[in-house]
Amino acid sequence: MTECIEAKTTTKVFGYHQVRLKGKRWRAHRWAWELINGPIPEGMVIDHMCSNRACVAIDHLRVVTQRENIMAGLHNIDNRSHCNQGHPFEGNIMVRKNGRRECAECNRARSRANYAKQKAGA
Ligand SMILES: [Zn+2]
Ligand SMILES: [Zn+2]
Repeated sequence: MTECIEAKTTTKVFGYHQVRLKGKRWRAHRWAWELINGPIPEGMVIDHMCSNRACVAIDHLRVVTQRENIMAGLHNIDNRSHCNQGHPFEGNIMVRKNGRRECAECNRARSRANYAKQKAGA
């Protein structure tokens, strides 16, 4: 694979560069894709094959369905279909603001535990 080309923009939101164009804010890699390949079909997202979200190198990008992107992201971290606690990942994924995907069931359990701790401490 060729080297990554990182967008040089001033704003970076959750690891994605943003560009301003026609009064809209775009993620730089989406914009780069549409510039060359035309509009991204409804329900499709851009996937970074290089896992570098700041990258706008067109040959590192591909169009996938939202679901494929989530599953691909999971495979980047983890090849398993279940989390450590044995919850199935399929249909049970939450994406954090930083782009990390994790088990929604475990996350709910964690926030319940945190809430109980806070309540006990108050
Ligand atoms: Zn890249
Ligand atoms: Zn879990």
